Amino acid sequence: MFKRYFMFFIVLLIPILFAFGVTYKVGTEASFPPFEYVENGQYVGFDIDLIREIGKLKGFNVEVIDISFDSLIPSLTTGNIDIIAAGMTITEDRQKVVDFTIPYYSGDQSILVRKDSDFDITVLFGNHKIGVQTGTTGDLWVTEHLSDKNIKIKSYWVFHLFKVTEHLSDKNIIPKKNITRYDTFNFAVRDLVNKNIDAIVLDNPVAERFTKTDPVKIVGIIKTEESYGMAVKKGNKELLNLLNSGIQELQKNGKLDELIEKYFK
Ligand code: GLN
Repeated sequence: MFKRYFMFFIVLLIPILFAFGVTYKVGTEASFPPFEYVENGQYVGFDIDLIREIGKLKGFNVEVIDISFDSLIPSLTTGNIDIIAAGMTITEDRQKVVDFTIPYYSGDQSILVRKDSDFDITVLFGNHKIGVQTGTTGDLWVTEHLSDKNIKIKSYWVFHLFKVTEHLSDKNIIPKKNITRYDTFNFAVRDLVNKNIDAIVLDNPVAERFTKTDPVKIVGIIKTEESYGMAVKKGNKELLNLLNSGIQELQKNGKLDELIEKYFK
């Protein structure tokens, strides 16, 4: 009799424990489809599914917090969020301030223009207007390579029908004032479609998605070879190990591939 009650108690306790279990605040910037976006008032996307799957495996709940991309790292360091899941590229500079998980996907940068325009990759030079999202690797690339007087673009970074280096001279560098920084890529794409800017530099998987939902097209790929990782506060080994082991399990059981298929194919 006692045993039966005991079992009953345990069975009841498991979901209760889970319901009251630890909840991690996951920071993201939800205008980055298919990594994260809003659909029917819900946060959805590859990163959102991924962190929820890890939560299921490791027994934590997820609360999604949508903030601007350049606020994510400061929010993590001040403890307002516990995890960044935002299609964030693992970079050396960011590694100095946060700890990244093992990479779970990879991509390059794309040059996105209006579908009805005649622009090719030379849109990156001359007096054109370029949009980026503040603090992203697209922003960094544009700032570093297009607005510097001593511009040195290695031709292999941009592949298209011709070499970028042939189009470079001091004269045709994009003036700094022509680079517009947006809080979200949704605003940037809206400005592109409305002809307020001529091109956007952004992650290729996201550019691909915008070509399906908006009148825009990709005219070039910048081979930045970026790896995406989730981030935790520097030194939070326990959470980092938990996330890494979750990612590894999802790699092994095929679930990660399933999510890649669902969102990127
Ligand atoms: N992968 C890019 C970066 O890390 C852009 C990420 C984003 O806009 N969410 O900077």
